[in-house]
Amino acid sequence: MGHSKSVLAAIAILGTAVRLACAADAAGPSATWPVFPIAPPQDRAFPGDIQLSVDATDIARRVVRIHERVSAISADTVLLYPKWLPGTHAPEGPIDKIAGIRITSDGTPVPWTRDPVDVYAFRVHAGAGVHTIDIDFEYLSPTSPKVGALEISRDVLMIEWNELVLYPAGYFARQIPVQASLTLPADWQSASALETASANAGRTTYKSVNLETLIDSPVYAGRYAKTLDLDPGGSVPVHLDMFADRPEFLNIQPDQLADYRALVQQAYKLYGSHHYAHYDFLYSLSDQIQLNGLEHHQSSEDGSDPEAFSKWDKLAYSRDLLPHEFTHSWNGKFRRPADLWTPNFNVPMQDSLLWVYEGQTEYWGEVLAARSGLRTHQQALDQLALTAAFYERQPGRRWRSLQDTTNDEIINPRRPQSWTSWQRFEDYYDEGALIWLDADTLIRERSKGKRSLDDFARAFFGIRNGSFAIVSFTFDDVVKALNAVEPYDWAAFLRQRLDSIGKPAPLDGLRRGGYKLVYTDTPGELLAGEEDQRKRINLTFSIGVELDDKEKDMQGIISEVIWDSPAFKAGITEGDQILAINGIAYDADVLKDAIRAAAGGTKPPIELIVKSGDRFKVARIDYHDGLRYPHLERDASEPARIDDILAARPN
Ligand SMILES: [Zn+2]
Repeated sequence: MGHSKSVLAAIAILGTAVRLACAADAAGPSATWPVFPIAPPQDRAFPGDIQLSVDATDIARRVVRIHERVSAISADTVLLYPKWLPGTHAPEGPIDKIAGIRITSDGTPVPWTRDPVDVYAFRVHAGAGVHTIDIDFEYLSPTSPKVGALEISRDVLMIEWNELVLYPAGYFARQIPVQASLTLPADWQSASALETASANAGRTTYKSVNLETLIDSPVYAGRYAKTLDLDPGGSVPVHLDMFADRPEFLNIQPDQLADYRALVQQAYKLYGSHHYAHYDFLYSLSDQIQLNGLEHHQSSEDGSDPEAFSKWDKLAYSRDLLPHEFTHSWNGKFRRPADLWTPNFNVPMQDSLLWVYEGQTEYWGEVLAARSGLRTHQQALDQLALTAAFYERQPGRRWRSLQDTTNDEIINPRRPQSWTSWQRFEDYYDEGALIWLDADTLIRERSKGKRSLDDFARAFFGIRNGSFAIVSFTFDDVVKALNAVEPYDWAAFLRQRLDSIGKPAPLDGLRRGGYKLVYTDTPGELLAGEEDQRKRINLTFSIGVELDDKEKDMQGIISEVIWDSPAFKAGITEGDQILAINGIAYDADVLKDAIRAAAGGTKPPIELIVKSGDRFKVARIDYHDGLRYPHLERDASEPARIDDILAARPN
C-alpha cells in the first residue's frame, strides 16, 4: 500500500511512464501505467504560509468546516492530506472523511485532480500568475461508531489538525508556517499545547507554528471543563485539562490529584529533564467520544471512563495511561527512532524500534504508575502477573518473532482480529516491557544494586534538558547507552529476545526480580476490577475464552478464543454465543461453577449449548484444571528487586 523512498526517487527519475519488459509473444496484456511524480520533501523554507481557519461549531452534525489560504503557489503545486501519522505509526490519515473540496483564486474556481496512485495527493491546476489559493472543505467526523471512532459529542470534542489541513508537497513539515484559528461553540472551553495569540466570541487564533508542531498539538474542548496545576511552583507548567460529559465527573478527590502530581515529580526524578515549554494532559472523561491514548511532544490525549474518579478502585487497570503518554514526551517524541522519523506526513514510516518507543514506554508507564501511587504495589504486581501469564501461553510466539510484530500497526491499524493469540498483535508493547524488566533486573544483579535501568533512562532520554529538538536514535545507540550503564553483550541480549521464534517468553526479569508466576482460582484485584467494569469475563487462562457480557440481552458472546486451548479444541469460535452450561441457562457464574466442578481427572467434560449464526451446537470442553488466574508470589531465593523498581523515588 505504501511506497518506499527509493521507489519515489526512481519514479522521479523515470518520468511519466513505466513499461514492463515483456516478450513479444506474451500471453496477456503488457502493463503500462501512468506515474505522476510528486516533489519529495526538502529541508528548505516554504516561501509562503498556510492560514488555516477551522469552524467546529456544527456539533450536532459533527461536521468541521475548513477554510485554508495557501500562498506561494506555483503551476505544479501538489497538496497533500496527511497520511502517515505520528503516534499511530501507520498510514491512517482519514482521507475517506473529507468532502466538498473547492479551490479558488480571487473567487475564480481552480481545477484540481487527485493522483490516482497516491490518493492523498491533489494536483492544483493553477494558471500562470496564480500565487495564492483558497481551499474550502468539510471534515466529516464520524457520526456513529460504525463509521469510525467518535471525536465530537454534544459536550466534548477533539480537534486533530492532521485531519483538517492540506499542505504543499516538496518541503519538510517543520519548514511550513501555519497560522491556525479555531471557532468553537461560544460557551466552551479548550486546551492545547498551542499558545493563544488572540481570542474572541468563541474564536481562538493561535500563535504561528510550523506544520509539524501544529499537527503535534491537538485541541480538546468542551462544555464542562476544569484545569488543574500538576506541578505547583514548578519551573515549567504541567496541566491536567479535563473535559467531561457531565460536570460532576470533574470532581477529582484531593488524594487522587496528589497521585497525579506525584507522577510529574517521579517522572522528573527518573529522567532528570523535560522537553516542553509547558505540558498539557488533554483528559476526556466521556463515553460519548473515543477513549484515546495518543502521545505528543508537549501534550497527550488521554481518554478515560467518565467515572474515573468515583470508580477509582475498579479502574486501576487503566491508570497507567497518563504515565505511559507522559513518558512518550521523552521516549518517542524527543528521542525518536531514526527510521520512524519522517520529514513530512506522506513519507512512509518504519516501525522497527517500537519495542523501545512503545515497549520501554509501557515499562516506565507501569513503573511510574506504581511510584506515583496511581496504582498500589499489589496492583502493579497484578499487572505484571497478567502480562507474564499472557506471554507464557501465547501460541503465536511459536511462529512469529517479536520483531515482526513491530509491523502490526501498518498490517492492521487496530481492526478486530479473529485469532489474535495466533496472529499476535502489537506485542512490542507488553512483551517489550518484559524484556526491559529483564534488562533492568540484570543491570541490578550485575552491578550489585548500584545501577539500574533508571540510569539508562536518565542518560538516554534526559539529555539536553529544556530542548524540544528531536534527537533520533538507532539500535546501536540503544546498545551503546546500555553498555555505558553496565558493560554486557546487550546487542546479543536484545536480538535474541527480539528475533527468536518458539522460545519461552522472556520471564527472567520476574525470577531475578524475586517473584514467580503462580495460578490460583481467584482473579487478582486489578483483573477483578476490569472484569466488573468492562463486563468481560476472562477465562483465557483456564478453558481459553473471553466473554463479553456488556449487552444485557446478549450475554455469553465469545469475544476471543485462545488458539489450541480447550475451548478451541471443542470447536468454539469468536462470535459464538454460549446459551447453556451443563443444561443450565448461561450466566458467567454458572460457567465458572461448572469449570470449578469439572476439576479433577475423572470428571465428564463441560457441556455447552452454543449458538453460531443461526445454528445451534453442543460443544464439550474436556478441561479439568479448574479456574486459573495469574499472580506473583514472592520467591525469597532472589532479592525483591521488583519491589525496589516499583518503590517511589524519595524526595
Ligand atoms: Zn504509546
